[in-house]
Amino acid sequence: MLPPIYLDHHATTPLDPRVLEGMLPFLREHFGNAASRNHVFGRHAAAAVEEARERVAQAIGARDAEIVFTAGASEANALALLGLAAGEAAAHLVTSAIEHPSVLDNARRLERAGWSLTVLPVDRFGRVDPEDVRAALAPHTRLVSVMAANNEVGTLQPIAAIGAVVRESAALFHVDATQALGRVPIDVEASGIDLLSLSAHKAYGPKGVGALYRRRRPRRVRLGPLFEGGGQEDGLRPGTLNVPGIVGMGLACELAMAEMPAESRRLLALRQRLQARLLRELDGLQLNGHPEQRLAGSLHLSLAGVDPDALLLGLEDVAASAGSACSTGAVKPSYVLQAIGRTGTTGAAQAQQGAALRLCVGRFNTEDEIDRAAQCIVERVRALRRAA
Ligand code: PMP
Repeated sequence: MLPPIYLDHHATTPLDPRVLEGMLPFLREHFGNAASRNHVFGRHAAAAVEEARERVAQAIGARDAEIVFTAGASEANALALLGLAAGEAAAHLVTSAIEHPSVLDNARRLERAGWSLTVLPVDRFGRVDPEDVRAALAPHTRLVSVMAANNEVGTLQPIAAIGAVVRESAALFHVDATQALGRVPIDVEASGIDLLSLSAHKAYGPKGVGALYRRRRPRRVRLGPLFEGGGQEDGLRPGTLNVPGIVGMGLACELAMAEMPAESRRLLALRQRLQARLLRELDGLQLNGHPEQRLAGSLHLSLAGVDPDALLLGLEDVAASAGSACSTGAVKPSYVLQAIGRTGTTGAAQAQQGAALRLCVGRFNTEDEIDRAAQCIVERVRALRRAA
């Protein structure tokens, strides 16, 4: 029996063994608290944190002092939105319909607190039109929040173009770059970004650690903490630092940057191989997301005539995710697919859309695995269609 093939890299990525090696000393002998500057244990931990901060900053074209470590991108997104609103009068926030819940739900929380909220639509490929951002901007717009890459359909947003539009106004620009880190270049200067969220575990680093970039120059972005405590992370993120996690995030960023050019070509070739084979051997398939402006490893398909609840049941050899386009059973229709118009409004239209399958190729996948996965998916879909 061969091990199952992991094609769910949008959900999380395996820890790179090189990252693990770099973390281990900080789980063993170098266990100091990075705030204990009066002895060598603490100083060693603090130095490692600062080295990691530099590595994360370099990955996005930022300065070290602009990086705030958090417990992940959900927290970084919350800190960006709620931390900006803390102590300020209610203003206006612009975001898109396909953001991660940690953006959308916190945006709705601000709305309940008196902010006005504009949720921009996306086109059928999942793209936000920078002109829609321009039209939404008002004198009291405080923040525009748009993700760099979508975690479901893989679409890349025109971040630099949106940043240029936001720059012409008094608003700040927040980007959730969780899925983009290590997959596409990110440059906070070139894209006019003021706040940016990252997570280590989507880039072959450990879970439970992330970062928020917060611009300091030329205009300093003022935030309040989500909760009170010690003064760690410039007073923005109280609590003893997760030193092994932070070290891992730094190493993950460094590796990703070094390997991105070659790795993105390799991933693109593997994804195209998978896509071509599925499209050749199965009919009734529809590619979701943008055909070109998408993450190299990302493939999202609607499979007509396939029961969404049954699709993954017989697919034990492939670890994938089934966002459902249909709402017949317990599986709720995906709000991202709804936003790109891939779910029908009538029961019949939904049934015709069938199942949705999210696949994402990653660093340790081989060509042989891709071929085996394609074979399994083809067989499963044919079997389900025969049974229908
Ligand atoms: N934003 C996006 C686009 C994501 O894909 C995720 C993870 N699913 C998050 C934010 C949340 O990241 P974390 O798991 O680090 O909280």
